[in-house]
Order: sequence, then C-alpha cells, then structure tokens
Amino acid sequence: MTERETPSFEQKRYVASVCPEFHPRNEGFLSNTIDVGDVTCDACIHWNDGECGIFDEVLTGIDQT
Ligand code: SF4
Repeated sequence: MTERETPSFEQKRYVASVCPEFHPRNEGFLSNTIDVGDVTCDACIHWNDGECGIFDEVLTGIDQT
C-alpha cells in the first residue's frame, strides 16, 4: 500500500512543462529536439522517486489561472 497517491503521468508531464526547475537527466534531452512527450518529472534530475519538493507547489500554482 502506498501512503500517498502517486502523481499521474499526465500530472508529471503537465508540471514539467511549466516547471522552471525542469532539468532532464538524460543528456540526450539537452539537445534542442525535446519532444513534448519527453518533458515529464520522470525525466528530471530533481524527481528522485517522487520526492521533489516543489512538485506540489507547481501543481497547485498552475491551477490559479
Ligand atoms: S521533478 Fe520537480 S523540478 Fe523536476 S520538473 Fe518535476 S516539479 Fe519540476
């Protein structure tokens, strides 16, 4: 049983697309050919198995519009 609900793939993709701290850990992503589908927290160096400290902030922040 998980204590906390895991963010959905769509949430991670959405957050990463607007997150100012998104840094892909895969060097291949550093090229200018980042596909929209590759921009997700799973590919970010800050993700650490869902322990990113600002994920919730970004997720709630993008709800304000
Ligand atoms: S893992 Fe954290 S820093 Fe990386 S894109 Fe997602 S919310 Fe932003």
